[in-house]
Amino acid sequence: MEGILKIADDLYFVRHPVRPGWFCGITVVAGSEKLGLIDTGYENTPEEYLFPFLKELGRDVKEISVIYNTHGDGDHIEGNDVIKKAANATIVCHEQEADVIPSADETVTDGDSITLGDRVFTVVHCPGHRQGNTCLFDKSSSLLVTGDTIVGTRSELIRVGKEPYIASLKKIAALSPAAVLMSHPFDPAGKNFLKGKEIDEMIQASIKVAESIS
Ligand SMILES: [Zn+2]
Repeated sequence: MEGILKIADDLYFVRHPVRPGWFCGITVVAGSEKLGLIDTGYENTPEEYLFPFLKELGRDVKEISVIYNTHGDGDHIEGNDVIKKAANATIVCHEQEADVIPSADETVTDGDSITLGDRVFTVVHCPGHRQGNTCLFDKSSSLLVTGDTIVGTRSELIRVGKEPYIASLKKIAALSPAAVLMSHPFDPAGKNFLKGKEIDEMIQASIKVAESIS
């Protein structure tokens, strides 16, 4: 299916094109019995992109049990209600984002574990883009799902301050992930799935951009 990035047999990123060169999306963790999602895109993302993909995968929307929101920006949470209504899923976010995610059922904090599909992720609190911004780290596959933790050249998205942002980037670099999945194709990477040395290049470039902010 067009617009689907397959990362592993049980892991997909469903793209929602927003404008030329830019997309948001939903990460699908397709476990043997349950589906987990990371972020939900805009209000129309589930109906237009996610549900058709699940159908093609041969999975039922009702198998979605948990939705994790990396942070509370609109292009990551506006699909929450549609999916919750269709699947009766539990919505989880960091405790410092709960005020902007009214649909959240449960909150987590740094170091907590969350199971999505058959994978167990660790919550990594990374303030910078937002105060309650988080990554999810799947240690067993060394995959880090970053949402908008790394914003590359988009310095206007470093809303909390450059010090916490740079500290967060150093925190995720120290995890030495083998693969990084971002929510958007941030520059200079220009794509949202990074492997090997592309990861450190993107993190170091993003730190440089932040350091240049007065
Ligand atoms: Zn954001």
